[in-house]
Amino acid sequence: MKLTQLPREFEQALPILKRIEAAGYEGYFVGGSVRDVLLGQAIHDVDIATSAFPAEIKSIFPRTIDVGIEHGTVLVLSDEENYEITTFRTESTYQDFRRPDQVEFVRSLEEDLKRRDFTINAFALREDGTIVDLFNGLADLENKVLRAVGNPYERFHEDALRMMRGLRFVSQLGFAFEERTKESIIENHALLEKISVERVTIEFVKLLLGKNRKLGIEMFIETKCFEYCPELKGRSGQLRVFSELPAMQLTSEVQAWVLLIDHLLLEEQDIRQFLKAWKCSNQTIRQVQQAFKGLQWRKEQGYSKALLYELQKETISIVESLLPYYQLEDEATLYIEAYNQLPIHALADLAVNGNDLMTHYQKKGGKWLKEALEVCETAVLNGETVNDTQALFDYLDTHFSQLIKE
Ligand code: ATP
Ligand code: MG
Repeated sequence: MKLTQLPREFEQALPILKRIEAAGYEGYFVGGSVRDVLLGQAIHDVDIATSAFPAEIKSIFPRTIDVGIEHGTVLVLSDEENYEITTFRTESTYQDFRRPDQVEFVRSLEEDLKRRDFTINAFALREDGTIVDLFNGLADLENKVLRAVGNPYERFHEDALRMMRGLRFVSQLGFAFEERTKESIIENHALLEKISVERVTIEFVKLLLGKNRKLGIEMFIETKCFEYCPELKGRSGQLRVFSELPAMQLTSEVQAWVLLIDHLLLEEQDIRQFLKAWKCSNQTIRQVQQAFKGLQWRKEQGYSKALLYELQKETISIVESLLPYYQLEDEATLYIEAYNQLPIHALADLAVNGNDLMTHYQKKGGKWLKEALEVCETAVLNGETVNDTQALFDYLDTHFSQLIKE
């Protein structure tokens, strides 16, 4: 098969391939971008594979950076774009079902394509538009089938992450596993335990965000892979309910975690441990906790002004975007407007600050100061006083003289 028209991203990178070829080596576009072009989808990263060894690539191109030279990857800098160029390689020694600790550079494209995970990820695209398809990936694309390259049992043994990658492709592409590939995942699912959580999490989040999440989660349950993912053991019932939610695609990691956590029937105080187990960042954890709290209030009694203030626009939008999964209406416009109408949006908007209070009351900073500021914040938000310096002093004098005298 030959493509008559290449997408802009490949056109732009053609001079790179031509230069590699002119130096006497082979160069191809490979990986997910070739698959995505064949599917008519937008592409994000252009990966180039070559028979040239890293040192040879560096001698062909004047400006390069060693980004992963031990894996054979050199970043080539060109005026418009930078390209990762990776030497054909085989991955010889796999230990403990994880990524190989040694790679061997080879001159053969076939060897390189053989180590790739699924047939639809194992195409190479030549500079003249020819698709190299050594494993009948084109037929699998046509039939929407995910088939391991070679013997699936061996391939999942070599690197068990491939099972999670497969599940996320089910969710992203709506493809089904070929029978032997699926059987092999069911048989080997426990190997996932050996894989670093960070790598599993990346794939799981992609699974949650896929267009065909329902299919992906169903297969995650059927293959039992969930049993070896953090904190999910024994939770197939809850995952099943989660898979049956309205099929709308999730759009952010935070949104996805909140919806999942709510369906696992966790409480706000369980979130930290759950997401720590998935090795999520503290920032993600905080955002999920806030959105989860917002969601519970919004579902049960609605937002107070103090809660709108605490959540801020971004989290309000996330909470609202989740309501349709509960057969409720997304009213982001209404509540963002309510948020905009709040008299203040941050402590810095208050007409007094810590220094003003210390000067006014002739007191050193301390616990009282933090409390006094909080009192002002709440009073202004609830409309008990206007946000004006004198009004705030008056308010504190009348209502909180005790706090200030102490
Ligand atoms: P995406 O579109 O999400 O980037 P991708 O298929 O390009 O998907 P990458 O992680 O960017 O995924 O990997 C690029 C290519 O490298 C894959 O298409 C596949 O050929 C190969 N690959 C990546 N990870 C593995 C793995 N664990 N085992 C075998 N081949 C892999
Ligand atoms: Mg990619």
